[in-house]
Amino acid sequence: MKRITLKVGSGVLTENNAVAKERMLNLVTFIVKLKKVYDVILVSSGAVSFGYTALKLDRKKHISKKVLAAVGQPILMSNYKALFDIYDVDTSQVLMTEEDFDSLAHIEIFRQIIDSQIEHEILPIVNENDITTISEQVFGDNDQLSAHVAHHSNSETLVILSDIDGYYDKNPNEHDDAALFKNVTKIPPSELQKPDTSNHEFATGGIVTKLKAAQFMLDQGRQMFLCNGYDLTSAEEFLIDGVHNKGTLFSSSKG
Ligand code: ADP
Repeated sequence: MKRITLKVGSGVLTENNAVAKERMLNLVTFIVKLKKVYDVILVSSGAVSFGYTALKLDRKKHISKKVLAAVGQPILMSNYKALFDIYDVDTSQVLMTEEDFDSLAHIEIFRQIIDSQIEHEILPIVNENDITTISEQVFGDNDQLSAHVAHHSNSETLVILSDIDGYYDKNPNEHDDAALFKNVTKIPPSELQKPDTSNHEFATGGIVTKLKAAQFMLDQGRQMFLCNGYDLTSAEEFLIDGVHNKGTLFSSSKG
């Protein structure tokens, strides 16, 4: 079966400081459907925002994101476990840092562990190991981490499920006339230099880290599909029905 890596941002998984249970269930149900056609690797953010939801902290008091991630990661995983249990799907936790992808020895271990999990029909759930990551090295809400995961797990496509329908010619939250790009074959270098435009409190990505992830995938001869993670219709149409209605496909060959 073809492999795909699916990345979901914290915005999809939480809402008003609570776990977005229905959206999470929809996501899990969708992944179960995908698993019939693809070998799936899930990259999931959410440790920091789940930590925040659990602790009900005073917002004015500063608490490090690493502490929140340490609290939230097991909660994130137990939520996934409870939902995947409904479908009898086994899951695993794989925590990675950016430096792991600088080391051939670590990449080899990563490949072996992913291959072996897929062989045993275990769904790998990858997240950045926020606790040991030096803050400057943070990938950016997992967008770039997911591109490394997709490449080194030999996934043909990286699917990023975001809070937006795709990549627009300008920020759609600021411009009503923003137009969605359906197919992108080249990303202008100037677009990769822009500042973070993230839309959520706990996201550190925005469109720029998604474009960097797309550029990485294009450089590797792979593709990336950016689409809405709140409403999974376009992801399902594209991945299961083979119909590209909404969402942006970054691919060097026009799809
Ligand atoms: P997520 O956490 O779902 O990955 P982010 O908040 O990190 O999402 O990034 C998506 C956000 O990037 C959008 O909601 C939008 O506000 C912002 N953005 C800025 N410029 C663009 C653009 N040209 N196209 C799409 N989104 C953009």
